[in-house]
Amino acid sequence: MELAELVGLRPVPAGGVLVTLTRRCPLRCSHCSTGSGPQVREEPEADALKRFVFSFTAADRPDVMMLTGGEPLLRPDLVASLTRSARAAGTRTALLSGMFFARSHGLSAPMRRVVRTLDHFSASLDLPHEREVPRAAVFRAVREIRELGVAVSFHLTGTGEDDPYLADVTADIDRTFGGTVPSLVNEVRPFGRAASWARPARTVPDGGGALPCAMAAWPVVAFDGTVLACCNQDTVDRRPVPPHLRLGHIARDDWSAVRARALGSPLLRLVRTVGPAHLRQRWSPGTPAGSYCGDCRRLGELPEVVAAADALASGAAGALLDLTAARRQHEQGPVTLVRRHGCAAYAGLVAARGGDLSPPPATEGAGT
Ligand code: SF4
Ligand code: SF4
Repeated sequence: MELAELVGLRPVPAGGVLVTLTRRCPLRCSHCSTGSGPQVREEPEADALKRFVFSFTAADRPDVMMLTGGEPLLRPDLVASLTRSARAAGTRTALLSGMFFARSHGLSAPMRRVVRTLDHFSASLDLPHEREVPRAAVFRAVREIRELGVAVSFHLTGTGEDDPYLADVTADIDRTFGGTVPSLVNEVRPFGRAASWARPARTVPDGGGALPCAMAAWPVVAFDGTVLACCNQDTVDRRPVPPHLRLGHIARDDWSAVRARALGSPLLRLVRTVGPAHLRQRWSPGTPAGSYCGDCRRLGELPEVVAAADALASGAAGALLDLTAARRQHEQGPVTLVRRHGCAAYAGLVAARGGDLSPPPATEGAGT
């Protein structure tokens, strides 16, 4: 599964699920949005996660499960177990790693075994990561993973489109891999350890325009097992979760229940179709503007907005509105999506420009 397909599915409601396997990480990147590190212990319970993923069925499942952290590869047996369970239902699995294991020369046999179970492997790379793991080591490991037949990509982060680091690393990836490995480029947001120095999150100017949030499409399993409607790290970490953004808990709810809540909520349908700023401006014009996500978190406290959502987006008409907006964003493709949610100047890198774009299918268990 290539990066462009993965990102292209991002606006599809319940088309994917994001699962954070642990907040733990052997690295200590200065920009870490999840506040991860070697001493942090928070992680969802393995059996509850297995039950949740086991509840995927051929008829009711996400197309893709994205495993993140912290460092998801600190729980390799769990990664392999969840991936196999998901695959049995027809769900493909992607994993985002901070690449701690690249510091050793060559992939270990256990690491090869777990990586082979994946449909996509994405390596995080940016300036703070390079202080922990050298770029050359990351490139070497990514090359080895690709040789196993697993589709690969880079997940790059910089301070913005004028960041010289991004110009340098994207050119280096292009040279090293001959344009065959795609990259998703994002900007550092002021969460976790980056809260004190990153640029503020983008705000949305008043003016009434719709700006749908594709990040409200995939349910997210947080470090404490809570399932949220959104992957904004600030929202994922805050407790209590605003009721309209809470979809359940893996200890009590299966995929079918979570999906039904994600698809059926009138407020979430409107966040996905017109976005939170438009809702606030249109139905509660006296409420001062906040950040894009700050506006969203307050929506449930604005009775006029809740009433409008119930009136406009309940029932079959609301479902059709949601579906139509998702289809339009899906058809616009991954580059347009990254232009809106990532670093616009590098959006085109989400699709590799040349070379062998289709690695041979991964054959789990074949050799090491
Ligand atoms: S590798 Fe990722 S999770 Fe780990 S400290 Fe760095 S940014 Fe955080
Ligand atoms: S707008 Fe709402 S749903 Fe979208 S990322 Fe922000 S908090 Fe999450």
